[in-house]
Amino acid sequence: MKKLKYLFLSIVFVSTSMYAQDQEKKDRKPGHVNQNKFKQLYDEFSTPNMFRSASGAPGPSYYQQQADYKMDIEIDDINAKLSGFETITYTNNSPDNLNYLWVQLDQNMRAKDSKTPLIQGGGITPAQRTSSFTSTYMTEGFDGGFNIEEVKDINGKPLQHMINRTMMRVELPQVLKSGEQFSFSIKWWYNINDHVNGRGRSGYELFPEDGNRNYIIAQFFPRMAVYSDVEGWQNSQFWGRDEFALPFGNYEVNITVPADHILDGTGKLTNRKEVFTKTMMKRYEQAKKSYDEPVVIVTQAEAEAAEKGHSDKKKTWKLYAENVRDFGFATSRRYIWDMMAVKIGDKDVMAVSLYPKEGNPLWESWSTKAVASTLKSFSRMTFDYPYHKAISVHAKQQGMEYPMICWNYGRPDKDGNYSDRTKFGMMSVIIHEVGHNFFPMIINSDERQWIWMDEGFTTFVQYVAEQDFGQWYPEALSSGQDKYPSRRGPAEKIVNYMGGDQDYISPIMSKGLNVHQFGNNAYGKPATALNILRETVMGPELFDYALREYAQRWMFKHPTPEDFFRTMEDASAMDLDWYWRGWFYTTDYVDIAVKGVKKYYVSSTPNEYAKNLAKRYGMTLEDFPPMVYLVEEGSDEYDAKMKEGSLLENSSTLKEYVMDNFNEEERKNLKEPKYFYNVTFEKPGGLVMPIIVEYTYADGTSKTETYPAQIWRLNDNEVSKSVASELEIVSIKVDPNLETADIDTSNNSWPKEIKQSEFDKFKNEVKN
Ligand SMILES: [Zn+2]
Repeated sequence: MKKLKYLFLSIVFVSTSMYAQDQEKKDRKPGHVNQNKFKQLYDEFSTPNMFRSASGAPGPSYYQQQADYKMDIEIDDINAKLSGFETITYTNNSPDNLNYLWVQLDQNMRAKDSKTPLIQGGGITPAQRTSSFTSTYMTEGFDGGFNIEEVKDINGKPLQHMINRTMMRVELPQVLKSGEQFSFSIKWWYNINDHVNGRGRSGYELFPEDGNRNYIIAQFFPRMAVYSDVEGWQNSQFWGRDEFALPFGNYEVNITVPADHILDGTGKLTNRKEVFTKTMMKRYEQAKKSYDEPVVIVTQAEAEAAEKGHSDKKKTWKLYAENVRDFGFATSRRYIWDMMAVKIGDKDVMAVSLYPKEGNPLWESWSTKAVASTLKSFSRMTFDYPYHKAISVHAKQQGMEYPMICWNYGRPDKDGNYSDRTKFGMMSVIIHEVGHNFFPMIINSDERQWIWMDEGFTTFVQYVAEQDFGQWYPEALSSGQDKYPSRRGPAEKIVNYMGGDQDYISPIMSKGLNVHQFGNNAYGKPATALNILRETVMGPELFDYALREYAQRWMFKHPTPEDFFRTMEDASAMDLDWYWRGWFYTTDYVDIAVKGVKKYYVSSTPNEYAKNLAKRYGMTLEDFPPMVYLVEEGSDEYDAKMKEGSLLENSSTLKEYVMDNFNEEERKNLKEPKYFYNVTFEKPGGLVMPIIVEYTYADGTSKTETYPAQIWRLNDNEVSKSVASELEIVSIKVDPNLETADIDTSNNSWPKEIKQSEFDKFKNEVKN
């Protein structure tokens, strides 16, 4: 008898794994690729090496190049021209010999012969911004490309160079060996563009009423391209949308502007006493000690007085920045300037704002506080902000970031009124752009290649930072709001996009230039993917530790997506390959449904299932070990009387077994569930995700259970769970708190929720 029992059990065991074997045979077609969603990402990931470790940390041979700049820049405010002379010292830390250097000339995107307009394939747009219509059809093409006047070595000898659109190859007189340095200089100028009418991330805004310009100047100088273990020379040209890839270095920059301008930019102001008035110095000293309210360095009255004049004299502002990947500055006689101090770790950082009177009253109230708050939130999620200041500059229609400085939109109406949309738009863009100091300015990813690594990370932490801001400054919220109205981050905000037309959706791991729905693809979806990973899949404790580990490993270095994916697993002991694969490498969406629920009762009468099983294996029911039979409610075998009794009364075999195998003490501790359910979930969506289920019982209580995503590992379409309960289950709901971005919630409930028809909805609305 014993032998038979084992035989029986092993037969049953074998039969359950039969399905998997059949599946494998089916899959063994020629050219078949294993599509299992839990397969490791070996095909998609590059092999770890001495430069980048399998743990996701920089490897023992990790290197990065360095580019140091000394620049003299001058703005010709009358003609809106920018000219510069720069000396670049390039250090080859790679193990390779270099025959030439590549320099980026991003302004050439604005050259007359730029190919950027030629790759726009959309045809006529039936509704257009007037600014884009006039610049496309009504104006002579603006010539904003670089004029490279000379490229010379340190002894003044011309260096051969060749320009291929937005990149310039500089020939080296001799091979630059590993560990060697090479210095050379470039003299250049270009016409500054109108960034409002011509669009662009750099340029000026003209104020016709007083004839003045506010300048926000960036990617304005020939900049070294990145040379790395991953790409060699980064050779992806600038078409205008994708952002930048830049090496770290030290910048010594002297900027000459009209004497009545004020200016701020990347780096420490090294000649403050020369460019500040005594009053400004005094206010600056106060600002350094003001942690709660900004102190105005240049008042609105002073800025308004300045905009009436136009100095012919010049002033040079000297800035020095260490370990930055870029340099930007803003200058105008129209700017108001305020600052306050914020404690980050054991250091004081200055939160700074520059804005014209057009930004008020919004900007004097909230810009600098938003900067300070952002530095605190992002520092908590990554590392202490290492620079000494962060500046928010008001610029029409702008949202763009550079080390220590960024441009932000948000302008009240002429009479000073503003809507909630303008207010929260302004706060959110400041939080976002200041946040970019962390991603990608310090955690220096390649934006040209991986747009999500700067926009996605920043938008994700932005959500955390916005919620902090709403808590720390409740007076910034509007009446009736109890938290900051974040536009991106929460799962339900990405549902429309992910459930939309697949022709217009790309995997997150796409280059920004090549995608439709740029905002959803580069910002919204990766931010939501990280948020769901944090809140639902990993939990904040594991996630936050791992994210900080990633941030600290790659602070002041150049990470790739794999370095992030690997670090998150390395620091959390979670195999997340399924999550990266689904959310980052595919356009699948989440849709999990309750397919059906069956209710069972225990009986000692052999049921059809058992009889068939015995027949199939040539056995009789007497050969079986003691069995418990479960009978489905409503089936032919179902006996209404069964549900009257207790579990033990319904099955004499079970009762006997319990009496034989448990002593009195143990019997007291046995549970005796009354209801047995077979709950079947199906997955019309492609993404594997945990199944979060809320069970509600007859007494009104409820319990939420989360089945990890691995529940789908053997069947990607449908899984069943057996649920034993003391209380009757009256309803079941998948993803009750809308935390997985499930695109169709109409199939999430049992019993099915009766949907209000459109007509009923309409009727109710009319009544209300
Ligand atoms: Zn951004």
